[in-house]
Amino acid sequence: MTDSFRAVGGCRCDDNPVRYEYNARPAEVHDCLCTDCTDICGGAMAIIAVVDRKAFSITANADKLKCYHSKSTCHRYFCSECGCHLYLHVDGFPDFQLVHVPPLDRDSEVGGKPDRYVFVRSKHPLLTLPDDGLPRHQGWANSGEAVAA
Ligand SMILES: [Zn+2]
Ligand SMILES: [Zn+2]
Repeated sequence: MTDSFRAVGGCRCDDNPVRYEYNARPAEVHDCLCTDCTDICGGAMAIIAVVDRKAFSITANADKLKCYHSKSTCHRYFCSECGCHLYLHVDGFPDFQLVHVPPLDRDSEVGGKPDRYVFVRSKHPLLTLPDDGLPRHQGWANSGEAVAA
């Protein structure tokens, strides 16, 4: 275990930003089109890195984090000052943090690339998915499962 991998990111605060890192490559990365992710981010798509919870840590200003439960099983962490959505925890994946990739520093490694789209049935009609050959699943699908439709 000599992998020196490290990904770093943080919120948008100019002063005392929340900072976090993960020091193991994600188990997988996916593009999520569910309404929960998109409406809360205000984005058309969420790029999510699924990171071993033990490899993830808040390194600065954790006291600014606020948790919002978008579902009873889905716990989303935001900076309470700038509103940046940094990561979420889902009860069904107790060993992982689901890290939003865009707030990673632009020059940070991510540790993987998206391997599929999930919750395509919820895609906003104004979004056109690129013809990139990645599997498109109507609902949730674990990495490596057969294409749903
Ligand atoms: Zn902030
Ligand atoms: Zn989602």
